Amino acid sequence: MTRPTLYSSAYVLPVAAPPIRDGAVLVGRDGRIAAVGPRAAIGWPEGTERVDLGESVLLPGLVNVHAHPELGFFRGALEDMSFRDWILRLVGAKRAALQDQDYAIAARWSCVEMLRAGITTVGATEASGAALGALLEAGMRGVVYLEALAPDPCHADAALATLQQAVAEMRARETDRVRVGVSPHAPFTVSDPLFASVAEYALAENLPVAIHAAESRAYRELVTGGALDFAP
Ligand SMILES: [Zn+2]
Repeated sequence: MTRPTLYSSAYVLPVAAPPIRDGAVLVGRDGRIAAVGPRAAIGWPEGTERVDLGESVLLPGLVNVHAHPELGFFRGALEDMSFRDWILRLVGAKRAALQDQDYAIAARWSCVEMLRAGITTVGATEASGAALGALLEAGMRGVVYLEALAPDPCHADAALATLQQAVAEMRARETDRVRVGVSPHAPFTVSDPLFASVAEYALAENLPVAIHAAESRAYRELVTGGALDFAP
């Protein structure tokens, strides 16, 4: 329980309704929004704390629908290259430079950066699942889509089993704000049988699904026409 708080600012953007000049948002004792409107029109209960944000814009938290929080350390390190070169170098750099614990640190740092930028909800696609702990710790919302990667059909069963085990462990930590999903990584890294089995698993378990698709022209040409110059 906290004191009800009235936040006022030069503009309030409810998004679902037109912008409000000299607006205010009343947050009740339960932490939920109790009223939104022009500052002069909102009444507030006795004991309400008043926070005037001045010449600012007050709006709902932004949503980043696709991010890799566990890879935050590579910001600026892999720039200005083709998609093919980029992803090959990324895989090499991950193997060479990162230990398991580094993913958790990167995910925490990524959450700090997102919150500073106004992002409160994220779709986190990850191999390690490190974003789960980071989102919970940061009080953010989101879905952590655990990746499955195995281009060789012979490895499909093992990849599915690994995914299922990790997802089961992660789901024990789910909350109302943070959910767990699955991500068959991309058309060129997941075999047909693995795609089918992950889809079946997701449907049976009611898991949200994310996938990388058409990330570049070369990628599209590989998927639609089998262009070999993309293949690693
Ligand atoms: Zn991605």
